[in-house]
Amino acid sequence: MTQTIHNVTVLGSGVLGSQIAFQAAFHGFAVTVYDINDDILADARKRFGALAEVYATQAPTPEGVDGKAAADQALAGLRYSSDLADAAKDADLVIEAIPEILDLKRKVFGNLNDVAPSSTIFATNSSTLLPSDIADATGRPDRFLALHFANEVWLHNTAEIMGTAQTDPEVFDTIVDFATKIGAVPIPMHKEKAGYVLNSLLVPFLTAALELAADGYAEPHDVDKVWSIATGAPLGPFRIFDIVGLHTPYNIMANGTDLERRLAQWLKDNYIDQGKLGRASGEGFYTYPQN
Ligand code: NAD
Repeated sequence: MTQTIHNVTVLGSGVLGSQIAFQAAFHGFAVTVYDINDDILADARKRFGALAEVYATQAPTPEGVDGKAAADQALAGLRYSSDLADAAKDADLVIEAIPEILDLKRKVFGNLNDVAPSSTIFATNSSTLLPSDIADATGRPDRFLALHFANEVWLHNTAEIMGTAQTDPEVFDTIVDFATKIGAVPIPMHKEKAGYVLNSLLVPFLTAALELAADGYAEPHDVDKVWSIATGAPLGPFRIFDIVGLHTPYNIMANGTDLERRLAQWLKDNYIDQGKLGRASGEGFYTYPQN
């Protein structure tokens, strides 16, 4: 048995929160967007306007559905609130996408528990925290789990779903079903793992690539060639570094093991300090035409 989800509230209207909210609205859910004040929500409205244009042309739609009409309808249907009680009052599901700060998330879930109906399911989109770090603060650990999306959710539409030992299996199944209904590909995880599936694979892969280049075994472009030619993968690891942006791996590795700190320093000395920050800056391991 799964619960029926009609009303979805998203906490945080930043990069991922806005995408999650729009993805759900685009697939017909009634979505409320919550953020801490009305100025931020005014900026969010602009972000949603831009997202509507992206969805109209890029987002896959079911057979016979017009993307532009669905995007316009999603945009018009969004409800905005900077009052948590008002935002949560009718929610069947609240998805949290606020900054990656454990104490902040715990506090916000505690406040949410005081105002949301007892039946509401709570989900966190956290990338690096485990749901069990937060579960007790929600006041309803049986109705809480992680639902993790990737950036540009309309294209990279995985939904990694990770409960704790306390998550009710019916709640877990409800979220698997919800993920499918918003056009995502649900990836149910059987137990908690930092990094979910994607980063458990990607981080060691990128670290190994960096070690090959930093320790002088092979040129970055040749590492990419080997990966692409030998496996058929469209992108090698250094292309992926450029897309992610070099600051993010630098920040992660600068606090890691001895090897990771050494690789972070190499990245800083040879790329970051020279303004080569990846695709967004026009140059990283590759150069990119800027318009
Ligand atoms: P962001 O900084 O773009 O947005 C955060 C939003 O939360 C802002 O709009 C901010 O005003 C709002 N906020 C701050 N305090 C709040 C509060 N107390 N209540 C409600 N809203 C509050 O961050 P983001 O990149 O969207 O990341 C949000 C979450 O999503 C993080 O947990 C992150 O790990 C996760 N995530 C991010 C990505 C990504 O690529 N950016 C990918 C997957 C998951």
